[in-house]
Amino acid sequence: MIPLVFHPIYSQLDLPHRHRFPIEKYQGIYDALIKLGVDCANFHTPQALDPSYLTQIYDHDYIHQLCSGQLDPKAMRRIGFPWSEQLIQRTLTAAAGTVLTAELAMEHGKALNLTGGYHHAFADFGSGFCMVNDLYLAAKTMLINPDIDSVLIFDCDVHQGDGTALLASKDNDIFTVSIHGEKNFPHRKQVSNIDIGLAKGTGDDEYLETVDSALHLAFVQAQPDAVIYDAGVDIHINDDLGHLDITTKAVRARDEMVFAKCDDAGIPVAAVIGGGYQRDIDALVDVHLQLFLAAGVACR
Ligand SMILES: [Zn+2]
Repeated sequence: MIPLVFHPIYSQLDLPHRHRFPIEKYQGIYDALIKLGVDCANFHTPQALDPSYLTQIYDHDYIHQLCSGQLDPKAMRRIGFPWSEQLIQRTLTAAAGTVLTAELAMEHGKALNLTGGYHHAFADFGSGFCMVNDLYLAAKTMLINPDIDSVLIFDCDVHQGDGTALLASKDNDIFTVSIHGEKNFPHRKQVSNIDIGLAKGTGDDEYLETVDSALHLAFVQAQPDAVIYDAGVDIHINDDLGHLDITTKAVRARDEMVFAKCDDAGIPVAAVIGGGYQRDIDALVDVHLQLFLAAGVACR
């Protein structure tokens, strides 16, 4: 049984009308998995992190101001959500979800969070819908385990994992890979251990070859003992923000490739769903489901 991590709060955030963030998708993925016959017992429920836990890793003033609603309006605009108590509870629970996923992956070999991938969050500011970098936090959690000396963060979201790259730049035991659209947000890129910027309109064959060679190179260079995988689906051909031409079939093939590589190496993998911005929620949920089908959580 592959553990899954979900909390209803993932989809509970009141946003202004026509806000582009598809907040309903998380509950949609949960409902779709239940419909596919996944047992409720597979799901683990995270509890919101205590902000004092975050200040061990991130900037104390930033975390304090974020949690107490004292960030200046410019900093909130950069994040892209209006501040609310609900936003903070959701953020702390989502980050807790990825930490829990990392712990479950170490115990069971594989675990998946029904949110996660807040890779534009830095130590002292947030941006692009990201406030707390859950990927970095999960990597730090894994490194507490004496059997884990090297963690690979493999980020396939269409946007560069800029926050993760900068946060991990001082950690020799965290290796970052980002495969993203070159001409896409963030326009000022940071330096990951491996960065691959794809041209607009990149199709399935080139994409899958790129992922395959990046995986190979990362495993050779990092010799990882564990992997954190950001399976963003904003690479999809129908995504509003992606500008790549990747089909649902290739999303599935990519996810299968990452899981197979970890299985072959016999190392744990914690996966998060990452970005995806189609306005048609049912269609978006279907693309995100590919990760769960690739992991063998359900069949269809
Ligand atoms: Zn993205």
